[in-house]
Amino acid sequence: MAKTELQNRSGTRIDSGKIDEFGATLAGKLIRPTDPDYDTARRIWNAAIDKHPGLIVRCLGVADVVQAVKFAAANDLLVAVRGGGHNVAGRALCDNGVVIDLAAMRGVLVDPDTRTVRVQGGATLGDLDRETHLHGLAVPMGVVSRTGVAGLTLGGGVGWLVRKHGLSCDNVVSFEVVTVKGEVVTASADKHPDLFWALRGGGGNFGIVTCFTFKAQPVSTVLGGLLVHPRDRAGQMLRFYRDFMATAPEELTVYAAILTTPDGMPAVAMIVCWSGDPVEGERVLAPLRAYGPPLLDAVQPMPFPAMQQLLDGAFPNGTYNYWKASFVPKLGEAVIDLLVEHGNLMRSPLSAVVVEFYGGAPGRVGASESAFAQREAEFNIGIMAQWTDPAETAAHVAWVRDAYDAFEPHSSGMHLLNFQSEAGDDVVRAAFGKNYARLSEVKRKYDPANFFSLNQNISAAAP
Ligand code: FAD
Repeated sequence: MAKTELQNRSGTRIDSGKIDEFGATLAGKLIRPTDPDYDTARRIWNAAIDKHPGLIVRCLGVADVVQAVKFAAANDLLVAVRGGGHNVAGRALCDNGVVIDLAAMRGVLVDPDTRTVRVQGGATLGDLDRETHLHGLAVPMGVVSRTGVAGLTLGGGVGWLVRKHGLSCDNVVSFEVVTVKGEVVTASADKHPDLFWALRGGGGNFGIVTCFTFKAQPVSTVLGGLLVHPRDRAGQMLRFYRDFMATAPEELTVYAAILTTPDGMPAVAMIVCWSGDPVEGERVLAPLRAYGPPLLDAVQPMPFPAMQQLLDGAFPNGTYNYWKASFVPKLGEAVIDLLVEHGNLMRSPLSAVVVEFYGGAPGRVGASESAFAQREAEFNIGIMAQWTDPAETAAHVAWVRDAYDAFEPHSSGMHLLNFQSEAGDDVVRAAFGKNYARLSEVKRKYDPANFFSLNQNISAAAP
């Protein structure tokens, strides 16, 4: 392979003296293809992504982000922005261009009096939970602690508190954003309200978020864990899950998954998180725990950060991953049959088919109140292939695509963008529905030349 070098979008090499001058303006560091830490720095969670940036700018603060944006704009460079590096499609990286990397900007400041939290743009969910938990608080996020707050929140953000407290983006009070012009602006209900609207679900299209301010919720100890059943009960268990969740209080979030246990047993499971009163939780969960009965009932009281780490082991760094997801309005019989059929066709013990029920708080926010439009379809089906041998890639990708195609006739037509290894323009437009035209308008205002292009891209072109 030719040695990777920094090139502009037309393929012209950037002079190394210019790169040195830029490096001298930073508090953080430049990582070049010739540096010993380059291969570590260009690695992200998903080993299937193997990109070779021409330069990685490891920013230490907002001023570094501003310098990096100005340098990239002045030299017409392709730009990728890295938060937690957990985007399954690998959008945190690019070939030949520059990665503006926020991995060293992981500060979290909690104000327990106002129950607000300021979080830098490279923080992980684990960074956030660790600090909020000290005050008996939590911000609704996702379910794997190494995921980035930034990418997750900008794409909506669903997790254990979603039914009671809403999406991560619904809990944002304000964003500090570095724009394409290198200006630092605040987007909130009062300041740049159009940008505030667009950033709540519209992804990394409009600028680099260097700091999020969230409202935090009083959540400290939860009742959580796995209920594991044999795979041959998958259809029955999924029907029970659907019926149980139809009347379950919003303090309860349960995901159902067709998976393989670590000792190799084909299984189906419910992963439970009750975030309300513990005594009431025991009562509500009793029928769920009695059902079957399960082969394993690991539900127990635990600190919320432990709940957030419960699935970390199932998504280790460095495996190969390909995911797709579809919203279905209801878990009808045909959908359940397909879940069982395609779950049984899974080609890796690390893969899973997951059903996530979000009914509750997300649906109380109108589809046009923020960019995130997918508020009515309550069940999300995630088809997640994970494997360790790159020679098997085609087979695992084919399994995901086949299952996704099979669910399409039952889908709401919308797909959770955070979970897509691939999403064509049609999928992106459908995910935003009627909001797309307004997003396009905001894109025209804040990033007309599509400087921020490596994301689920919104076109700046007028319809
Ligand atoms: P990155 O790869 O760093 O970035 C993702 C995208 O956001 C890129 O387009 C990037 O350019 C942009 N971006 C990153 N940081 C910034 C920033 N500071 N400013 C502007 N743009 C930025 N999603 C859920 O909703 N709920 C879950 O429970 C959940 N669980 C997950 C578990 C695992 C193991 C993985 C891999 C993903 C999970 N996701 C979940 C999906 C996840 O939210 C998305 O993949 C998200 O993009 C990851 O964000 P990140 O910051 O880690 O990613």
